[in-house]
Order: sequence, then structure tokens, then C-alpha cells
Amino acid sequence: MTYAEHFAKIIEDQIARVERLKSSPAMPDFSAMDKIVIGTIDGDGIGPIIMDSCRSILEKLLADEIAAGKIELRKIDGLTLENRIAKMETVPADVLAAIKECDLLLKGPTTTPGKGDDLPNIESANVTLRRELDLFANVRPVVIPEKNIDWIFYRENTEGEYALGSRVIYINDDISIDFKVTTTIGTTRLARAAFEYAKNNGNKNVSIVTKANIMKKTDGKFLSLCYDVARDYPDIKTDDWYVDIMAANLVNDQINSNFNVVILPNLYGDIITDEAAQLQGGVGTAGSANIGSRYAMFEAIHGSAPRMMEEGIGEYANPASINRAAVMMLRHIGMTDSAARLEAALDAAQEALDMPGDGTGNTAAEFTDFVLGRL
Ligand code: NAD
Repeated sequence: MTYAEHFAKIIEDQIARVERLKSSPAMPDFSAMDKIVIGTIDGDGIGPIIMDSCRSILEKLLADEIAAGKIELRKIDGLTLENRIAKMETVPADVLAAIKECDLLLKGPTTTPGKGDDLPNIESANVTLRRELDLFANVRPVVIPEKNIDWIFYRENTEGEYALGSRVIYINDDISIDFKVTTTIGTTRLARAAFEYAKNNGNKNVSIVTKANIMKKTDGKFLSLCYDVARDYPDIKTDDWYVDIMAANLVNDQINSNFNVVILPNLYGDIITDEAAQLQGGVGTAGSANIGSRYAMFEAIHGSAPRMMEEGIGEYANPASINRAAVMMLRHIGMTDSAARLEAALDAAQEALDMPGDGTGNTAAEFTDFVLGRL
């Protein structure tokens, strides 16, 4: 295939994707469903440790709903690096089929081999799942009460620099080119979700983050589409920032409590939300939701922490992250009382326990016992 043919194919695929998006299904009405199936996936590294914690906590918290058949926790095996490499599939077909039979997913982190890992070049399972399940919004709350900080980030999850994964054009050893994709439908539905959240939570301020002065076509489009959506919410104060100054704003105590809802394209959202989570107390404390119109996936914001496993201190992984994600999941399906109970128990655990993740302090098992004791 020539460069021109390869490039034409990429463009045709994106046009076809946008046409598919136009017929996306409506979000399910969880309150009207007889049964909600929650798939649980261990993942790699510390994944099985934190997922065991989350499963046993949910089994106690939702014991009545599980006994009545309203909720099923269904373990899905096979989303491990070993199995993915053995099959040379980013998400093996049988695993993807099992995932699609669930309504929601709680997922442990999965390892993506990097350059120099001496492993086959296999794409990120998350990027594939977000694309396959069309999980367009990555939602990450960060709350720091003592600084009056109450942020929630809406990161675009399927486009930008991540849209094409490894399908880039290899030119030669001297030149590398990646692609960035912004679509009207992809941006508008994300902005709509963020403004709806802002409206339903007391007209919080909305800030749009881009680098539209440099990435004029893609970020410029993202920015102007977000302002188009903002016109439908005249009571909400909306402003915009370049990503570099936003990174500084978050650590500027003079102004950081002014921000509430933040909308970002994919790559900037990836970076800024880790910075924000660190301010909250580390990536081990933060959960996130990946919301689509048919499916939703909830996970920790951190990765599989391979170094913790290599050093033999995996049992010290903090399971707060995935359990915070479970709180978001319960709210997503309208189980607000259960969500509040779990959140209170997690707040108490965070207050009482010391989990730096360096092999000192409390273990994941102690964390789980503490939370189970509070439920
Ligand atoms: P990481 O998030 O795994 O680790 C970053 C740091 O945070 C490390 O010091 C680690 O020890 C610490 N940490 C992470 N989770 C913790 C927890 N629960 N408790 C205490 N400390 C914790 O980031 P990384 O090393 O850049 O990535 C490792 C692998 O994870 C890579 O293969 C990456 O691609 C993958 N990853 C997966 C996901 C996902 O599946 N959603 C997200 C990010 C990274």
C-alpha cells in the first residue's frame, strides 16, 4: 500500500466511524431493568489485588440485590498481558464478547508493553475497549475538602491523539508522524455530558482546556464546539484555558478552588487528571468512569504498578481507587444510598489508614477488612 492509499484508508475509516456514531443507541434506563450485570476484570500487576478487595466489598454492600437476582457480579477472565500476547489480540475476541454481554464493567489496570520492554507491540487494552464500547467520556472527580477544591474532569476518551493507535504511517527511520482526530459528534456529546452535570449540580463553572493557538484545526474545532454547547446553558459561567497554563492553575492555591467542571480533549485530559489526582493524595486514591451510550466502564486511574510487583510489595497497593470507581458506578445506575454508604466507609478508611504504596503502612487486605467492618 502506498502512503497515499494508507492515508486515504485512515480518512475513509474515520468517515465511516462518524456515520456509525450518528446511530448510537440511547443510554439504558437502569431503574427499569430487571437485572444489571456487572462484569469484573482483574487485569495485570496489582489489578487482581485491588479487584479482590472491590469484589468482596460489593458482595457485602449489595448482598440483598445480589440475592434477589437484581445485580450479578460476573468475573471475566482472560484480559491479561500473557493471554493477549498468546493470542496477539489487544482484547481477545472471546473476552470482548463476554464483556459485551454485561451492562457495566469494573476493570483492574492492564499493562501495555512500552518501548524497551522486549515484548510484542500490543496496543493498550483500554484504548481498544474505549473504542469498541464507544466509551466517549472519561469522568474523573478530584475532591480536596481542606482546600475547598471540588473538580470534575470530562476527558474526551475515543479521539484526539489516541483515535488511530498504532495505525500510523511508518515512513522511515528519519521521520515519525502521528494523527490527531477531532469530530463534531465526538466533541459535542462530551461537552453536553459535562454541561448537563454542571447544570444538575448547581450550575457549576465550566472551563474548556485546549491548545487551540497551536493545534488550530483540531483543538480549535473542539473549543468552538464546546462554546456552541455552552450557549444552551446561559446560567453557567464558561471560560477557556490553554493546557500549559491550566497545569499551572491547578497548583496555584490563589485560584484553583475557582475551577469546577473541566472539559478536555483526550491527551491533555490524560495528563491533567493525573496531576489533579496527585494533589488529592496520589493516583491510588482516584477512581474514574468511562461512559458511553450503551456501556460504561469504571476503573482506577492508575496503572498495573509493575514495579510494586517486582519489588514484592503488591499487597500494599491501595484499593481505594477501584472502590471509588465503584461508588461512581453505583451513582451511575441510581443506587445513590449504597454509593453514599460505600463512600463514607472509604472516607473513614482514608482517614484511619496509611497507604503510601511503598511497602510500609497498611496492606490492601487491612483496608478491605476496615471497609467491610464499616458497612
Ligand atoms: P502506574 O499508575 O502503574 O504507577 C505509577 C506510580 O503509582 C507507581 O509508583 C506505583 O507504584 C504507584 N501506584 C499505582 N497504583 C497504586 C496503588 N493502587 N496504590 C499505591 N501506589 C500505586 O503507572 P505506570 O508505571 O506508568 O504504568 C504501569 C502500566 O500500567 C503500564 O503498562 C501502563 O500502560 C499501564 N496503565 C494502565 C492503565 C489502565 O489500565 N487503566 C492506566 C495507566 C497505566
